[in-house]
Amino acid sequence: MVNQQTLAASVSVSGIGLHTGVKVNLRLCPAPANTGIVFRRTDLEGFAIEAQSRNVARVSYATSLMKKGVLISTTEHLLSALAGLEVDNVIVEIDNLELPILDGSARPFVELIAQAGFQRQRARKSFLKILRPFEVRDGIKTITVYPADTFQVTYRIDFPHPLIGAQCFEFVRASSSYATEVAPARTFGFLAELEMLRKNGLIRGGSLENAVVLDQTGVINAEGLRFPDEFCRHKLLDLIGDFALLGRPLIGHVVAERAGHALHAQLVSRLLREKKSWKLVSKPEETLRPVSEPAPMFAMN
Ligand SMILES: [Zn+2]
Repeated sequence: MVNQQTLAASVSVSGIGLHTGVKVNLRLCPAPANTGIVFRRTDLEGFAIEAQSRNVARVSYATSLMKKGVLISTTEHLLSALAGLEVDNVIVEIDNLELPILDGSARPFVELIAQAGFQRQRARKSFLKILRPFEVRDGIKTITVYPADTFQVTYRIDFPHPLIGAQCFEFVRASSSYATEVAPARTFGFLAELEMLRKNGLIRGGSLENAVVLDQTGVINAEGLRFPDEFCRHKLLDLIGDFALLGRPLIGHVVAERAGHALHAQLVSRLLREKKSWKLVSKPEETLRPVSEPAPMFAMN
């Protein structure tokens, strides 16, 4: 059995929102078992919004949560860090509507969580184990989840850009390091699209400090890329954050092709409704037992 965990202490960070450009203070606080991840707007008397699929509001350029008209925007990088480091219970206090973008990756959140430390809890963790393949599709964009013994993601992208092209990155829970292989990958955008995004009131806080920006031939950031396939790794980072909205870790192999926030969110909400495709288990390594084999007896404790 695997137990739930929370943070050992509260930790804070400040920054600006990518889309709003507004300064925000964020604090991660330990939370009791079975709380899950809950956001609290401290500027609105601590109004709480659970990081659950039913509260997903808008998913085009970022994943936002909304409840009773109250918005929490751009949640995916923090949720990715929490899921990537297997933190089950935390209260996230913010005093504005958008999370800080920091350097555009999940690395500052990983460092913040590491600074807090981990606290193991008595309650058992439950996992959502995939029993049969399940797919969502939007034209040539697809995400399929397959039964597997661990959490695993294969992400493929294909952008008609000389520096990106076709990229594939594979994450396997048992053998990959989220903190070093996934978390540092930054969000990216194309110079040609920035003007349109600005006109739509987006990326007001965007700069070369918090995003990789591409012109027609390459990257305009002086420091270059953190990984040759940083783009694909960032898409995978986003997927891990968006899948945190399942409310519990997934046991299965996710294969995503040219997907994005909208399709990630669609898969999560449809999978939760498709109850024949999964079951809850308390051990990640639990395998399906043939029906003919009698189940062993366990002492209850
Ligand atoms: Zn992202």
